[in-house]
Amino acid sequence: MSDALEIPGWKHVYSGKVRDLYVPADTPDGESAERMLVVASDRVSAFDVVLSPGIPGKGELLTTLSLWWFDQLAGADGGERVPNHLASEEIPAEVAGRAMIVRSLDMLPVECVVRGYLTGSGWAEYVESGTVCGIPLPEGLQNGDRLPEPIYTPAYKAPMGEHDENISYAQTVDLVGEERAAALRDRSLEIYRRAAAAAEAKGLILADTKFEFGLDDDGVLRLADEVLTSDSSRYWDAASWKTGTTPAERMASFDKQIVRDWLAANWDKQGEPPSLPAEIVERTVARYRELLERMTA
Ligand code: ATP
Ligand code: MG
Repeated sequence: MSDALEIPGWKHVYSGKVRDLYVPADTPDGESAERMLVVASDRVSAFDVVLSPGIPGKGELLTTLSLWWFDQLAGADGGERVPNHLASEEIPAEVAGRAMIVRSLDMLPVECVVRGYLTGSGWAEYVESGTVCGIPLPEGLQNGDRLPEPIYTPAYKAPMGEHDENISYAQTVDLVGEERAAALRDRSLEIYRRAAAAAEAKGLILADTKFEFGLDDDGVLRLADEVLTSDSSRYWDAASWKTGTTPAERMASFDKQIVRDWLAANWDKQGEPPSLPAEIVERTVARYRELLERMTA
């Protein structure tokens, strides 16, 4: 599905579940370009399906938060500079506020997931086997508990239309080689720690997140895609987490969990998913906005 726009100077080449990709209009068909325009739509996906309606304003909120994080990680927070994929700030007016011009990178097929807290699919696996992605954890943890140490739980980034699957660290070595696998892991853990500390200072918990990296023409590893957004991460309110007694109270989310929870309760994952009720759409956009305001304040 695509609601690709006509954008002077650019041509549409691909639509993912959430983003539409464009290359400069003079790029020969089938050839890759040095730069890409990545437009975040208001589409929302959960369990790998795109839902309707979209979430009005979501593309802009996520782009603003992503750009803010790229800037922080590029050194605005006083830390070490993490190379990223941003290439220009001259965004076409048609998509102002919800697009980035990026270097087209050779993307590594690993979704670099870091978890500081136990929930979601990690919690489900822990209940089954006491592990998360094969990593053994202490006994007696509850849904939403903080892990003793953040853990790196990579997934294979499946080609278009297929489901991503959790893989072991050893499998990432098979995919990208030893040196790069270690770089992905170490850099992901480092960025997570830095971002989680920044979130904590704003009364927020960064429970988990997912990064994607790619290589530029000089072989430099760059942080790509979106970063630390409410689509790619779980954020909770730290005060609620401390005092809450039920999972719902502890994990007061600023992220897509609102949509996932509603869908899980109202769809058996067969056939077309039901439309999102207006109340869920409004709650989601309000929480995405609140996260952006609190994080960037
Ligand atoms: P799918 O592509 O399987 O639908 P998705 O839903 O994650 O996955 P989107 O997030 O909507 O896709 O689209 C963004 C796409 O652009 C992703 O496939 C992502 O890996 C890719 N991407 C992000 N940054 C870059 C970059 N700098 N260079 C090349 N590809 C990139
Ligand atoms: Mg994506």
